[in-house]
Amino acid sequence: MKKKTVPVEKGVNGLDGNSNLWSYGFQDLNISSPALLPASLPASIPNAPYFDIRIYRESMIKSLIRIHSKDMYWLLEKVHFDGNYYRVKCVSSGEWEYCWDLAVRIQFFGKMLGMTLYPKRLVSQKEKRIVYRSMILVNPYQLWDEALVNKFWNLQERVEFLIAKILFHESIHVMISLGNILPSGFGNTDIYLEFRKMLEVSVSKKLSLELHNVQFRLWNLVLFGSSGSESEKKLLERVQEIYEFLINEKYSNQKTGKTFHFPSNNTKIARKYAWIAAVKAGGDKQVTKKIWQVEVRRLRIELRELFERIDTELSNMGIILD
Ligand SMILES: [Zn+2]
Repeated sequence: MKKKTVPVEKGVNGLDGNSNLWSYGFQDLNISSPALLPASLPASIPNAPYFDIRIYRESMIKSLIRIHSKDMYWLLEKVHFDGNYYRVKCVSSGEWEYCWDLAVRIQFFGKMLGMTLYPKRLVSQKEKRIVYRSMILVNPYQLWDEALVNKFWNLQERVEFLIAKILFHESIHVMISLGNILPSGFGNTDIYLEFRKMLEVSVSKKLSLELHNVQFRLWNLVLFGSSGSESEKKLLERVQEIYEFLINEKYSNQKTGKTFHFPSNNTKIARKYAWIAAVKAGGDKQVTKKIWQVEVRRLRIELRELFERIDTELSNMGIILD
């Protein structure tokens, strides 16, 4: 196990020499005791039995995904799960070419289910090419989860199901980034369009009260986490960014839950991600931990309200996600 952990540590900790992972992308935790979470990732789970994770068959995982989404299968088809980058898309727009590279790595690393790093942009003026590189980390540490064991006695099948499920969730984040970043129209997939619909509904007039309540809490948390020298514009941008992160997670969780018959609900999603949002906002730099925690709790309550209203509105439009 020792040797295998080296590349991921390089990939994660070597990002910019910064150990604060929270700013790097989508972190999907299974939060039972968030305070215990490390700032950087340990290489393995203490007390976990030795287990060679490589018993999974890549082709099986891909075919599990293909059943549910052709678009996502297309994204992952050429990618091997070895942590190396593979080119998944290239499009030309104007005189520039835009390409997307994706890496997938599967490894045990603490209590994070998975993580998608925000795409890194590499520009080559000479070749007139912009390459976006994103990486997905999958951590199937819940392999001994009771519900999962009961569903899949066979260890190989269980690993494959779990990896497919986590990969599906993380790939939704990648597909949304692709849709947001590539020149208009080139990143359109069913998943992206469905997500956009959810985002649009969430900012529609009908939901303005719920939206305002969530943004108000986010604004407070961004202020609590600020260094004190950022401009108001910068802080407002952070509110917007975290807001989109939350809708992104709602969509990914619901879509994956429905697809793999492990439904999630708004209470759970709000609880899990309100905390991550508050950490992303900068934590409790300007206030006491207690004040910060109260605000996180308020965000969680407002977020759940907003999520419920989004579902109602979507189902009135005939779109049902769970
Ligand atoms: Zn996620």
